[in-house]
Amino acid sequence: MGERVYFDWNATAPLRPEARAAMIAALDLTGNASSVHTEGRAARHLIEQTRVEVATLVGADGNHVTFTSGATEANMLALTPAIEAAGEKRKRDKLFVSAIEHPSVRCGGRFAPEAVEELPVSADGVVDLDGLGRALARAERPLVSVMLANNETGVVQPVAEIARIVHAAKGLFHVDAVQAPGRIACDVGALGADLMTLSAHKLGGPQGAGALVRRGDMHIAEPLIKGGGQERGLRAGTENVAAIAGFGAAAAALRRSWQVEAEQMAKLRDRLEAGIKAATPRAVIFGARVTRLPNTTLLALPGIKAETAIIAFDLNGIAVSSGAACSSGKVQASTVLAAMAVAPELARGAIRVSIGRSTSEAEVEQFLGTWRKLSESLVKGGRELAA
Ligand code: PMP
Repeated sequence: MGERVYFDWNATAPLRPEARAAMIAALDLTGNASSVHTEGRAARHLIEQTRVEVATLVGADGNHVTFTSGATEANMLALTPAIEAAGEKRKRDKLFVSAIEHPSVRCGGRFAPEAVEELPVSADGVVDLDGLGRALARAERPLVSVMLANNETGVVQPVAEIARIVHAAKGLFHVDAVQAPGRIACDVGALGADLMTLSAHKLGGPQGAGALVRRGDMHIAEPLIKGGGQERGLRAGTENVAAIAGFGAAAAALRRSWQVEAEQMAKLRDRLEAGIKAATPRAVIFGARVTRLPNTTLLALPGIKAETAIIAFDLNGIAVSSGAACSSGKVQASTVLAAMAVAPELARGAIRVSIGRSTSEAEVEQFLGTWRKLSESLVKGGRELAA
């Protein structure tokens, strides 16, 4: 395989060298973190140090971080009727999730299906604040879950405003912040989140590690995984020490460098979008009128088929993704674009380009060269296939 261009950072980001080194070192620790002997205490010490690293990344306290197997599990842990603020004893009666959430949030976690309601978004992919206020009036003790930035469009949600509306309605607020660290500011307090989900592999750590971060006085009365009482009773099972160590090292590295990296990404993303527009003025960039992550472009060219385009790019050495969920070879229409009322024919052609801290100008130019070469033939091919 020649030099590949990896433009799918929102699916998973390359491992940071600091994370790799921390993981390799952790693999040589023998102890079980629950054991009281020296070896056990060494593993415990590493986990507790990492807890502080991850907490610091989002302005939280180490005591309020629970490590999980990833963001999917953190979302499932968070979305339960048995989430209580200090002094509360009554369960949450309703869950509101935005229509553009990741499936692990849209499925409603541990709420009964009839207790889950979807919040609409605008054509730009932003949660409708008036609609939110009206929806919350229908619940006594709501839990609301809205992501900080969408994984397909990169559209950033007005999370701090949403927090104010939710809290005025005596609700609690969960934020899936998976796509944010390293790209935009992500501070639990500033955003007004009561609960926040993070995933290690989106920020340069390993796959299979994540965290749920709580505001100080939040209490989850019902763990998702019960057993040996690890993670202070919130998540049983012997800790994945190496993955946790990699998560912490990635978080620490990112904290030092993300602002410079994000500025660089924004410049390259702007160059990429300007190049696409110049080559194919008919191309549509979703969410372009609102605030987006500096690294994400979701685009479609009328007539293009996403599967064909992705394969063509792959054969030309470039990894991009479709905007639609792809399972068992069948591309389904993106629920995010459907929620934004994008015509299904256009949505089916959506291609997601997501870059990262090590993306170079030369890679962007290579992408644009391939785009210029492929776009017209892809459109023609798509039309012929559709005919
Ligand atoms: N939430 C969002 C917004 C995501 O993009 C993803 C990953 N695609 C997840 C949750 C799930 O993360 P994980 O792979 O760590 O389970």
